[in-house]
This record gives sequence, C-alpha cells and structure tokens, in this order.
Amino acid sequence: MNSRPSEFKLIKKYFSPLAGEGSFGFNDDAAEIIPSPNKSLVITQDSLAEGVHFFSDDAPALIAKKALRVNLSDLAAKGAKAKYISLSLGLGKEWNENWVAQFAKGLGEDLKHFDVELTGGDTFMTGGGFILSITAIGEINKGSYVSRLGAKKGDLVYATGTIGDAALGLFTRQELIANIKSDDQDFLTKRYLLPEPRIEAARIINKYASSSMDLSDGFVGDLEKLCKASGVGALINLEEIPFSNAAGSVFQHDSKWLKSALTGGDDYEILFTTAPHNQQQVETELLNIQCGASLVGSIIESKNVSVMDGDGKAMTFDKTSYDHAGAKS
Ligand code: ADP
Ligand code: MG
Repeated sequence: MNSRPSEFKLIKKYFSPLAGEGSFGFNDDAAEIIPSPNKSLVITQDSLAEGVHFFSDDAPALIAKKALRVNLSDLAAKGAKAKYISLSLGLGKEWNENWVAQFAKGLGEDLKHFDVELTGGDTFMTGGGFILSITAIGEINKGSYVSRLGAKKGDLVYATGTIGDAALGLFTRQELIANIKSDDQDFLTKRYLLPEPRIEAARIINKYASSSMDLSDGFVGDLEKLCKASGVGALINLEEIPFSNAAGSVFQHDSKWLKSALTGGDDYEILFTTAPHNQQQVETELLNIQCGASLVGSIIESKNVSVMDGDGKAMTFDKTSYDHAGAKS
C-alpha cells in the first residue's frame, strides 16, 4: 500500500465509491444538483494546509473529517442544512496509497454521519505539503439567511459549547502546557483534531438569530469581526463565557492560558445574537441541543468589544485572534 497508483486509479478505487447524487459515479466533468423547491443555496469554502492546520503525522482519516467539519460549521452558523461538498485534494510530496485509502475512509464515514453528498472534486500533486480544500453547499428556506451583519444594540450574545479547548489542545500537543492530567489532555487534543460542527444549533439560529458566525480564529477577534460587520460593539462577561472542566484545570495551573483560550483558533463553536424578546424561547430550545449555548453578553452601540473580568475591569489582549497573513490585530 506504499505504492503510487495513477491519478485515474486513485479516483476510481478510493473516491468513486463515495460518489454522491448527480455525480455520475465520477465519470463526468461535473455534477448536476437540483435545489429543493423554495430553498436557496448557501455556499462556503475552507481549506487546510499541512503545517498550518494539521501536522504531517496526523491521521489522514482525521484530516479528512476536519476538512469536512470546518465547512459544516460555517453552514450551521448560517442556519443552513449541509447537502453537498466538492473536494480539492492536493497530495504532498510524501503521499502514498495508504494515506489516500485512510483519507477516503475517514471522509466516507463523515459523509454518511452528516448525510452529505460528495459531488466530485479534483486531485493533484502540490510538490510540497498536503493541501485540502472543500466547497460545501447547504440549503435554507428562501429569505432566512443569517449573516454577520444584523446584530443590533440591545441584542443578546450567545456562544455554543465551550470556548478555547482546541487552542489549548494545540498548545498541549506542542508541550507548551505542563502539569496537565491525561484525561484533560485527551479531551483538549480531541477538540483540536476533531471539531464537532454545531449543526443542531442551526435550526435555532435560523429561527431566532439576528446575526451569527462560526468561531474559527479566536473568540474575541471573531466577535470583533461580527461587530464590525454589524456596525456595533459588545460587552461580554468573562464569568459567563463557557469553558470546559479541562480548560478550567489548565487555567488553575497557570492563568495565562485564559487569554490564549479567548483568542486562539479552531473552536468551531457558533456565536450568535438575538433580540431580547426571544430570550425565553431561545433558552428553552437550547435545552434540547446537546452542546447547549451560554448567554455571554450583549450588543452595545459603541463600536468596542470589551470582555469584563470578575472585578469589572476590561481585559486587554495583545492579539485578539489568529491571522493567517501574520498581522497583529
Ligand atoms: P478532469 O481532469 O476531466 O476535469 P478529473 O480526472 O479531475 O477530471 O476527475 C474525474 C472525476 O473524478 C470527476 O468527476 C471529478 O469530480 C472526480 N474527482 C477527482 N478528484 C476527486 C476527489 N479528490 N474527490 C472527489 N471526486 C474527485
Ligand atoms: Mg473534465
């Protein structure tokens, strides 16, 4: 399995068995998709690069699942139901057949798990590291798209799940965090390797959110982006931000990791706002979803985002999010 079959054979053997609706078994140049009546399509794309989003020795099945899941997270944040994906797979210098076999197996498992059709893609050699890019298409009822632009003064701000686990998982993996229990280490590492897209929140977002985005670059920086798009600011209470027990024990050992958790990437939680009159209904419906969501603050008119600590002081951050171009924000 360390051989290198031709591109044609690779596609036939590993990807054709995953061919979805309208793709003619990957025997054609393109695929035809038929949108459901009265729905609009929501389209998004996210890419992962070796050395940036994953390590060269990460399990190929997990890389495939993460590439899919980060896209499903974007669609969930728009209140959309994921339907189709297209995959661009750039094989790195070190590729072999076993890598592709494991990758396709992981992808197939998640396509089934999330009920998404693979419409096709492209396979090429990068000459360097592995690069994967997925374009995902979802559906919403016409007119119900939830953007980042709609937050209004007085709206309540909610965050799903727990914040900062994946960033701490990455630091744990890089052995920057010392004195961590092995259970906590496993939990945080898993949150980094295998995000859980909050698709169950999509329906609530679709129904009640005035604005929404998925958290991929860091809680504070992403909230700043949403506020900027909406022309507003936000006042957040640190004590209301949801953290996992594992993150809590990391902070107990060394409180410096709290700021890293608030500004580190890869959360794949959803941040959304809603008008105050929806509070009761939103919170009742949130009880029915496993990841839950916490009320972390509110939208204000002044265009600043402040996170107030337990003493009522605004926290300061050197950098509020991860930036791929390397800029400080
Ligand atoms: P062409 O070069 O004629 O555009 P390709 O040889 O790239 O076509 O692809 C042949 C078929 O295989 C197409 O249906 C394409 O969508 C599909 N395909 C290629 N690579 C992948 C991939 N990594 N994942 C899914 N489908 C793929
Ligand atoms: Mg073609």
